[in-house]
Amino acid sequence: MNIILLGPPGAGKGTQALRLVEERGMVQLSTGDMLREAKDSGTEMGKRVAEVMARGDLVTDEIVIGLIREKLEGDNGGGFIFDGFPRTLAQADALEALMVEMGQPLDHAIELQVNDEVLVGRIVNRAKEAAAAGKPVRADDNEESLRTRLMAYYKQTAPLIGYYHAKGLLRGVDGLASIDDVSAEIGDVLG
Ligand code: AMP
Repeated sequence: MNIILLGPPGAGKGTQALRLVEERGMVQLSTGDMLREAKDSGTEMGKRVAEVMARGDLVTDEIVIGLIREKLEGDNGGGFIFDGFPRTLAQADALEALMVEMGQPLDHAIELQVNDEVLVGRIVNRAKEAAAAGKPVRADDNEESLRTRLMAYYKQTAPLIGYYHAKGLLRGVDGLASIDDVSAEIGDVLG
């Protein structure tokens, strides 16, 4: 089973992906994590995307599709969880083509439904918690970048909700519920 987790920044995609990895042996494919890794290891591509990411804008489709293509060739364990990908219609089309090529199904696009006020609170909190624990704070976890990230979400990513609805793959989950309850709802979808 291969699934997409859809939702704005701070909706809880990463948290839920981690649960699915632990509980079902699925494989998380987070393009955000891959890009941060590239940035931290100082690759040419990492250097090129650092500024775009810090600002909160999307990096090019070409780069993220390339990253995903590489990972699809690896082991998929209990299935892939696409976390933070696709984020544009072009990425969604590319993913579909890649899955067909691999002979893999795309089973569900699970939308974590939340509201903006909660998102801002969660992200400011994530930054505070990281700082308190002596962990690095994400360069884009500040109010200005967050505003850009939300706008990128509404302009470029939110159309995917309609796209996956039209394909019969969309499943909505209440992302405002507790982590355990969201997890249980996702479990119901996956069966
Ligand atoms: P995330 O960790 O998913 O919040 O992603 C952090 C940042 O990485 C985003 O704000 C974008 O700058 C970049 N990014 C991650 N995934 C994608 C994607 N699928 N398409 C374009 N940019 C992305």
